[in-house]
Amino acid sequence: MDNNFKQYQLDNEITKALDLLHYTSATQVQEEVIPCLLNNKDIIVKSKTGSGKTASFLIPICQHIQWDELRPQALILTPTRELAMQVQEDAFNIGRFKRLKTVALYGRSPFQSQAKSLKQKTHLAIGTPGRVMDHIQRGTLDVSNIQYLVIDEADEMLAMGFIEQVENIIDYLPQERVTVLLSATMPESIKQISKQYMNKPVSIEIEQEASIDHIEQKFYQANAYEKLDVLLDVTTILAPETCIIFCNTKEQVDLVYDTLNRKRYSCNKLHGGMEQEDRTRVIQSYKRGKFRYLIASDVASRGLDIDHISLVINYDIPLKSDTYIHRIGRSGRIGNKGMAVTLIEDNQDKYVKAIERKLDHKIIFDVRPSEDEVEENKVHFHSVMQTRLEYKESKTVKVSKDILKIHINAGKKTKMRAVDIVGTLCNIEGITSSDIGIIEVQDISTYVEILNGKGMQVLNALQNKPIKGRIRKVSKANTRDY
Ligand code: ADP
Ligand code: MG
Repeated sequence: MDNNFKQYQLDNEITKALDLLHYTSATQVQEEVIPCLLNNKDIIVKSKTGSGKTASFLIPICQHIQWDELRPQALILTPTRELAMQVQEDAFNIGRFKRLKTVALYGRSPFQSQAKSLKQKTHLAIGTPGRVMDHIQRGTLDVSNIQYLVIDEADEMLAMGFIEQVENIIDYLPQERVTVLLSATMPESIKQISKQYMNKPVSIEIEQEASIDHIEQKFYQANAYEKLDVLLDVTTILAPETCIIFCNTKEQVDLVYDTLNRKRYSCNKLHGGMEQEDRTRVIQSYKRGKFRYLIASDVASRGLDIDHISLVINYDIPLKSDTYIHRIGRSGRIGNKGMAVTLIEDNQDKYVKAIERKLDHKIIFDVRPSEDEVEENKVHFHSVMQTRLEYKESKTVKVSKDILKIHINAGKKTKMRAVDIVGTLCNIEGITSSDIGIIEVQDISTYVEILNGKGMQVLNALQNKPIKGRIRKVSKANTRDY
């Protein structure tokens, strides 16, 4: 397949991953950022949500990383845990065939297991500022060889009060490094940071205009006591394939979720008051297409990349106009049409004005759905609700198709080392070191990834081929669907 990423002369390991991810041509922001970062320039990027910023910095960073080096070479800071996980997954996928080890560091998840992971060779660390700082201070994250620092969603970091922590982290990093800062807006304080901590940064700004023009926007007047009814009417009429409903507080999220759940909507919820494990599970299953309606607070409004959301509903009007753009931007990603509905209470003029200033035109209220209209659409609505959503394969699964992870019943306790395994595997006919992926030697087990569809061949061969002098028990590993 012709792939226009070829122009950057990336290593085969990287282009192969891009092929499998179906990244065939660079997006506008990638066209600007990739060559610049391949030349190790500091960069400030301002570009709308959904434009492909993550890969724009991950591709060159993955290309430049030295595989042999034990200490982490790139540190990526994100404002939320979900975003840290998502960027980590993207990095894992892009670095898949280069066998790059990526670790996500975020709060409300066991510190020790992250620390253990960091003890082994790590190429990229991706995390939220608080947890990253913890790891630095407790000596579990070695930053002495960080060559790339990325600050993603810098304006959101600022809004969440993380900037001081980010600055503290920067103080620990080597001076000699490349810094990339990405932000949807450029308030003065962010410009200040860039002056202070960056080295003659190149400024890349992609035309912001038209960023939400492809999203049809409707506004309904509805007071607190009627909002649930209007919500039910709107969803009945529009019968969206998938929908995110944003509320301003977790109490509201709970209320809307309980109502829709009782009405048997295919739904789930996400807010900051939930356990991290539950948050992760909800996001992952929503990405896989396991339910239609996600009721969420603004933890979901930033950066999260969920394909093809048909409809975004602002059950509560966002209190900041930027948030409005971010929320509705969840719909209509990468070339799709989108739709957004906002419910507005009588006393919310102030917030309406702010959005009007942002949109640069007056908001005209739409006529609320009539009883007749709702009646007419009920049959269609129920038929949509009764059909199952299409299962969406994760990007990781796509990239991992030709990979089999095998388990060997021996580990550190019996002095097993990665070289022993490589030695044995390369002795199997038709297997070379390029077919061997990540090797993970644990106390009493070892996991080895076999690439290029050669997994079964290796598995069979190892049934009667000794590793380090003995025949070992070798089987397929139970991999978790991520
Ligand atoms: P941003 O950070 O600018 O909001 P993301 O980096 O999250 O955007 O990318 C948005 C979506 O576009 C993701 O699903 C990503 O996998 C996809 N994507 C990124 N680059 C490309 C590309 N070159 N071709 C196709 N899809 C891409
Ligand atoms: Mg992003």
